[in-house]
Amino acid sequence: MERIHLYVPPEEYAQVKAAGACWDDESKRWYIGRDMVSADFSRWLGEDGEAPEFGYSSDQAFVAAAQVSCVACHEPTEVICIYCESGTDLEREEPMAQCTLSNVWSVDDALAAQLARWPQFRQESGTGSEEGCFVNYCSQCGAKHEDYLLHGEPGDVFFCVALAEAVELTPLSGRVQMSGDCGFGI
Ligand SMILES: [Zn+2]
Repeated sequence: MERIHLYVPPEEYAQVKAAGACWDDESKRWYIGRDMVSADFSRWLGEDGEAPEFGYSSDQAFVAAAQVSCVACHEPTEVICIYCESGTDLEREEPMAQCTLSNVWSVDDALAAQLARWPQFRQESGTGSEEGCFVNYCSQCGAKHEDYLLHGEPGDVFFCVALAEAVELTPLSGRVQMSGDCGFGI
């Protein structure tokens, strides 16, 4: 059951509980099921309802992998990114096609489990409670390969994955969700 989180001031806890909302002890928030969304809860739903947890969703996602020479040790190393042949921009509620994700800062469990195959692509430890973005690390020396070096300009390895010949695509199974920056090739 998909949970819709509510924005409830403490003085209204009793009221929202009486209306049938449930308490999520882990996130310390009230929530209801999607099928319970009604006028009864509209005051706690926020302006446009709950913002989606992830920015993008895709049933046709791939890991795009390419060999580059490391910026530090110059040895060949594999870098990857997530490429969506099709999917949905959850914030705009629009379809998207043939885009690569860069600066990925959040992935759902289904994607995290599948990304374990590519240990060189991992989340930087962020500052404070903020989690960092996923970054490719050199398999030889551990040097970081920032996404803007891989995605930013024509000629960069992931600039236009749909047309790139040197990129190997590995399909991801099922639906995956993630947040990051969506880039479209030309
Ligand atoms: Zn290296």
